[in-house]
Parts: sequence; C-alpha cells; structure tokens
Amino acid sequence: MWNYNIPVRIFQGENIIFEKKELLNNFGKTALVVTGRNSAKLSGALDDLLKIFNEYKIEFCIFDEVEENPSYETIERGANLFDEFDFDFVVAIGGGSPLDAGKAIAALGTYFQRNADLFEKGDDIYKNTIPIIAIPTTSGSGSEITPYAILTNRENIKKGISSNRLFPVISFLDPKYTLTMNESLTVSTGLDALTHSVEGELKNNGKNPIIKSLSYKSNQLIKDNLTNVNEKLSDIDFRRALQDASIMAGIVISHFGTTIIHSAGYPLSSFKKAKHGIANSVFFADVLKRIAETDRNRVLNAISPFSSLQELESFMYDLNIDKYKFDLTDNEIERWSEDLVNSQKRKKTPGNFDINFYKSLYNKIRK
Ligand code: NAP
Ligand code: FE
Repeated sequence: MWNYNIPVRIFQGENIIFEKKELLNNFGKTALVVTGRNSAKLSGALDDLLKIFNEYKIEFCIFDEVEENPSYETIERGANLFDEFDFDFVVAIGGGSPLDAGKAIAALGTYFQRNADLFEKGDDIYKNTIPIIAIPTTSGSGSEITPYAILTNRENIKKGISSNRLFPVISFLDPKYTLTMNESLTVSTGLDALTHSVEGELKNNGKNPIIKSLSYKSNQLIKDNLTNVNEKLSDIDFRRALQDASIMAGIVISHFGTTIIHSAGYPLSSFKKAKHGIANSVFFADVLKRIAETDRNRVLNAISPFSSLQELESFMYDLNIDKYKFDLTDNEIERWSEDLVNSQKRKKTPGNFDINFYKSLYNKIRK
C-alpha cells in the first residue's frame, strides 16, 4: 500500500515567473512578501516579482527580516503585520529559512490568537492559512515542495511544524535565482538534498515506486553534478540539475520525513552556526554504516546509484565534509545524545542506536 500527495503546482524554467505572471493575479490584491536580508534582492527574484505586482497593481508589504534557522520571535513579528494589513497571499523568496518562515507567518498571521503556539498539535491552527507561493533561491531544503516549516523555538531548539495547508500552492523554480550562491552554500544545500533523498528512501525501502524513482534520480543528479563545484558556479545547467534534485528529494521527505541524521544535526545549526546541509552531512556516512550492520540491502537501495558506502564516503570526502570540526563540551554531547535517544525520529529510523552511538557521532566531529 502506498500513497502520493503533492498538491503543489510547479513551474520551472528561466524567467518562468514572467511566463506565468497571470497566475500571480489570481490570489487577491494584497500580498505579504517574506524574505531574508539580502539574497531575494541579490538573486533578482524580488525585482522580478515586484515588476509583476506593479503591472497588476497588487499592493505588497515586504518583511525582509528572516534569519537562518528562523526563530519563533521572527515568525511572530511577521504575523503581527496581519494586524495592519488584510493580506490575501504570501510570497516567500529565499532559501529554506525564508520559505519556512513564510509558511509559518501565513499560518500564525491568520489564526485568531496571535500568541498561539504553532508547535502545539492539531491542524485547526492552519485552517485559515492563506495561499503561500514559493520562489527558492537555494537548491536543497525542498521547502518549496514540502508541507513542513522548521523553526527555532524559544529554547533555541529546532522543531518542525507540518500541515497540508503549508504546502505552497505554487512554486516558481528559476535556476538563475540560484546563480549567486557561492561554493560552500551550493555544496551545503546540495548535500541537504542528498540527505533528504537518502533518508526518506531508507524509510520507504522501495515500497512506494514513485518515491523510489525520485530518490534514485535525485541521488544521481547530485552524484553527477556536485563535483568540482567551484568551476561550475555560473553554469545554468548545473544550477538546473541541483534545483531538480532539490524538488525530487523534497517530494521524498514530504512522504517519509527525515531520520535521526537530521535530528543529530539540528543542535549544530542552533548552537554552533553550522549550515543546515553540513550539519546533516557530518553524520551521514556513520549513521548509514550503523544501519547497514543490521540491514545492508536497505542502505544500498537508499543510496543507489552510489554502488557502495565506500563510494558515497569518498564523494563526501572530496567535498571536504570530514574537515568540519566543532567545539563541543562534554555536557553538550551528553545532553544532545539523550535528546536523540528520546526523539521521535529515532523510533522511525531503521537500525539499532543507543546513547553510546550518538556520543560517538558527536565525539568524532569534536575539535
Ligand atoms: P537558508 O538558511 O535559507 O539561507 C542560508 C544563507 O544563504 C543565508 O545567508 C541566505 O541569505 C543565503 N542565500 C540564499 N539564497 C542565496 C542566493 N541565491 N545567493 C546567495 N546567498 C543566498 O539556507 P537553506 O539551506 O536553503 O535552508 C536551510 C533552512 O531550511 C534550515 O532552517 C532548515 O532547517 C530548513 N529546512 C527546511 C525543510 C523543509 O522541508 N521545510 C527541509 C530541510 C531544511 P539571506 O539571509 O540574505 O536570504
Ligand atoms: Fe534538510
């Protein structure tokens, strides 16, 4: 038994937003545009959007304060704008952080209680969420196609919210908006897509054939393209390939979620400023090896077309993943390892893990 549910209209291509501009005129006359500090402008995406808004006389307000790993305070500040304006839709432009923030702001801003807690269970909170349109400027988080928003709570812990209402209604994928990413951002976001694709397929284990195909194709695109990155930064075909991989891997996690690999990485982003994709990648090979001890075929299926764990490891090695080391205290390692033992994702990750294994993961990346 399997299901497939992705209620997102995807339009891909150079200058796609101009080709499909009339779609932006369908949601109402007042938009909230959610972005980070610079990249929406730097990539050209914001300018393109505003040209269309001006043409259709769509009023807009720009909230450009989203930081990496967006905090709950930022979501609340964005949501407070709904007290002044009657927004019809949200356009989120940027990497995973502004896209996730745009989703959460669209939900909290339309809920009758502004001080509600989005992390509380229940879909009721999302029932008035206005349409969200996504314009990604990175290729990796997959937020442009997932029903998730990953936020940082008041205790500085990264936590996800999820609802069918958080799927963007439309994603405009223009690879030219990703040309301004430098080498390290390109690598970290590309590896985020690879971890999504593999982690989701580890759970699927071939049962859902659509997801299996998407995972395979996404792995292949990353394997074939995420090499000698510095030489390809301005190559639009390279950018398109990574954007395609991000979307496919995003569909994979929309169905199966991530694993303990993502959970282990969250504190590195929250407390050690690690880029999200790097925070996952430093644990990737070791967790896969551990799972392979009990179910080798499951791992080989999930990483294909990498033909072996050694091949995947040397791919990661060429991207210098083994060079990332962090200042970690004994207390942090103890606390984060305990959190992993108790995490929901542990129960959903195939394989045998205990606290000593988690400690060994953190010790290995210690400076
Ligand atoms: P990001 O956190 O959105 O952005 C990282 C940095 O990249 C920011 O400084 C940003 O600048 C810059 N940037 C973005 N686009 C750029 C471009 N085209 N050129 C130059 N710089 C650019 O990065 P991300 O890796 O895409 O997203 C990570 C976030 O997504 C994490 O919070 C993670 O938890 C979340 N995530 C969500 C999902 C999901 O399903 N919703 C899945 C995985 C990860 P500005 O600040 O100026 O924009
Ligand atoms: Fe991720």
